Amino acid sequence: MSEEQPIVFLHAVERQYHQGEATLEILRSAELAVWPGETVALVGPSGAGKSTLLHIAGLLEHPDAGEVYIDGVATAKMPDAERTRIRRTEIGFVYQAHHLLPEFNAIENVILPQMIRGLSRQVARDRAVDLLSYLGLQHRLTHRPAELSGGEQQRVAIARAVANAPRILLADEPTGNLDPKTSEHVFQALTQLVSASGLAVIVATHNMEIAGRMNRRVTLREGKVIELP
Ligand code: ADP
Repeated sequence: MSEEQPIVFLHAVERQYHQGEATLEILRSAELAVWPGETVALVGPSGAGKSTLLHIAGLLEHPDAGEVYIDGVATAKMPDAERTRIRRTEIGFVYQAHHLLPEFNAIENVILPQMIRGLSRQVARDRAVDLLSYLGLQHRLTHRPAELSGGEQQRVAIARAVANAPRILLADEPTGNLDPKTSEHVFQALTQLVSASGLAVIVATHNMEIAGRMNRRVTLREGKVIELP
């Protein structure tokens, strides 16, 4: 793993949305570098552009201008198929709503992305069991999402997001729907994974207590990424 360069580097990123006559300038010369093993909280009011930044960092959206380097590789002008390949191998996502497949149990939800990636069912299953156990879900392996608490669902979503061993984890309000104690639990699971794996993490969150325990805090001001103390 290279420590000399950021695993994610947004450089001079511009993003606008057009709504009728109006132009919303969401990102303006935005700069953000995140190194392996680093956790960054992205805080700010609703509508500030946090999801937009995560989507651009995660290669789900193109910037209008600027560049997104993933492990030193410029992605902005890459063909979509190549962006998709990098997204699938290097990047995991966790959303506010867990987006688990309701008809599949916890293990199956973590096995599926690995089988899509081409791993055998047995290898994928072993890793799913390891990950879920690591996240404290060893007694919930065969529960479907509806049979799990909100915090448990979110931990399955984290296990699924890292199932293919990405180098970057992007989380959009992952504890947004959870009570403080459960949020704490989910967050602990996340930090454990980071220290075990050297993942780089960007978490959009309103939870200042959680933000306070990450390595860095940033916010968006007039489209720029500003470091907070
Ligand atoms: P946050 O995640 O901080 O709440 P978002 O990145 O979701 O902010 O949105 C930033 C702003 O951009 C909001 O004002 C939102 O309404 C607007 N926006 C987001 N996506 C689109 C879109 N596809 N088209 C037009 N406006 C959008």
